[in-house]
Amino acid sequence: MNADLHTHTYLCKHADGSAEDYVRAAVARGFSMIGCTDHAPMPDDYDARHRMSFEQFHSVYKPAVLELREKFKDVIDVKFGVEGDFFPGTEDWVRDFHAANDFDYVIGSVHYLGEWGFDNPVFVHKYDEANIDEIYERYFDHIRRSAESGLFDIIGHCDLVKKFGHRPTRNMDEIVRETMKAVKASGIVVEINTSGLRKPVAEMYPGESILKIAHELGIPLTLGSDAHTPEDVGRDFDKARALIERYGRGMVSVFTRRQRTEVRIV
Ligand SMILES: [Zn+2]
Ligand SMILES: [Zn+2]
Repeated sequence: MNADLHTHTYLCKHADGSAEDYVRAAVARGFSMIGCTDHAPMPDDYDARHRMSFEQFHSVYKPAVLELREKFKDVIDVKFGVEGDFFPGTEDWVRDFHAANDFDYVIGSVHYLGEWGFDNPVFVHKYDEANIDEIYERYFDHIRRSAESGLFDIIGHCDLVKKFGHRPTRNMDEIVRETMKAVKASGIVVEINTSGLRKPVAEMYPGESILKIAHELGIPLTLGSDAHTPEDVGRDFDKARALIERYGRGMVSVFTRRQRTEVRIV
């Protein structure tokens, strides 16, 4: 099985291509599963510039993905998902949103610390105005809370805070271990996300030191390209597969209507 569980569409306003373009790219690469996981809407149109609206979710995204799931069912397993944001204060809205839609799975990502979109190149200067260690601590605190929220199936790119290459000055292993213990207790899985290789940090999310800790704790893994263009579907999966062999017994988690199963990745 070859599966890419993290892809986007033009609806988020910072990606190219329709869901069908991504599905066709996955088919062309010989994949047997693709997850459509564009950025989910948020309450009160929060961060509307980087995601589809609630209206678009219902009128465009959801019908398109469900139609593709049916249309391609003999060719490739298309999963209906979204990438949600963990943003304190929105939990009730997000819980209702998930309950109202029959998702195969939901990726939970932290893209905001307060009002700061820390992975947005426009605001990268803010790293220079703050203590990097404290940014990392806050970030992992949010990851822990996102796991404990019970809203998500997968922790997306769980060390995204390193995106632009800012590194903490002290060892974060203890904080990471406490975070991963919460992930383990919540029963959700950690994503190996190859998009970091295409970013200034030029490294997979998460790095191997985190994967080692996740492995020690027996946390299952999954795999996604985070493609924002169809050409990136399955990008660098040869490298990711080596990590899945080493830290996940060669198995990845996949989801159907929020039920997890494991498949061998080849
Ligand atoms: Zn995005
Ligand atoms: Zn994504």
